[in-house]
Amino acid sequence: MQVITDPIELQQQCMQWQREGLKIGLVPTMGYFHDGHLALMKKARPLCDKLIVSLFVNPTQFGENEDLDKYPHDFEGDKAKAEAQGTDILFAPEKSAMYEADHATWINIPSLGEHLCGASRPVHFQGVCTVVTKLFMLARPDVAVFGQKDWQQLAIIRRLVRDLNIPVEIVGQEIVRESDGLAMSSRNAYLTEEERAAAPAIRKGLLKAADMIQSGERTAQAVKDFLKKEYASTIPMGTVDYIELVDPNDIVPLKTITGPALAAVAIQVGKARLIDNILIEV
Ligand code: AMP
Repeated sequence: MQVITDPIELQQQCMQWQREGLKIGLVPTMGYFHDGHLALMKKARPLCDKLIVSLFVNPTQFGENEDLDKYPHDFEGDKAKAEAQGTDILFAPEKSAMYEADHATWINIPSLGEHLCGASRPVHFQGVCTVVTKLFMLARPDVAVFGQKDWQQLAIIRRLVRDLNIPVEIVGQEIVRESDGLAMSSRNAYLTEEERAAAPAIRKGLLKAADMIQSGERTAQAVKDFLKKEYASTIPMGTVDYIELVDPNDIVPLKTITGPALAAVAIQVGKARLIDNILIEV
């Protein structure tokens, strides 16, 4: 496995592979790999000839008071894990190599970023769309894999690629969980023992909400009220950022559930902002 830090070197290598007719796969990440990240690499590996994993804690997707400076990292560990998955290039650029001091071009899809994480993290998806577009221009992937844990992000990337005719197939990977149901996240490392013990209740609440809907509840507000109460008692130290039922493609809140619904939550638990979701088919 080659480690590349220079964006132009990556681009030249990928353009060469493209000329040779090789299929390129890309897995964008911010590092501190867990089994969720490795599942994306496993999914991408058989879909391409050359697998590129990017490791870049993208500053433009963090708000001012967020955890950019504290984001966990373990470069040597990540390198070994990416290599073990058969990665060909680990692309780990410096921030200054990705953004010139006078960087001025932004990609944004305001309508899809209005709710859920977009509502509480106003610059987040603009940063994501911009860096992912840059990664697409550098790596020229035929296929790119993203996790459903960040469902809104996946919906936004699909729309970005469709609207701008970017020739890449977007593949979604199901959420990888700990044995007690907690969605794996690099940010779980921030949890204290007590917080970690409460955190699986996020998933349990979502499963109960799905049951409610499967049993006939069609009023979104009733489901949200249930979840609010549930989390107040099961995660007393948590602060709900949002509890929402949205259309899974347009990420617009639903009043009445008449088709597929995505139940999505974000809860601040100590230093960790934890997100999870469940797709409910009716
Ligand atoms: P991150 O490094 O947190 O930005 O995540 C990089 C990619 O891994 C994104 O596409 C995430 O959606 C995906 N991802 C993170 N955690 C999980 C998980 N538990 N299950 C599946 N995909 C995940």
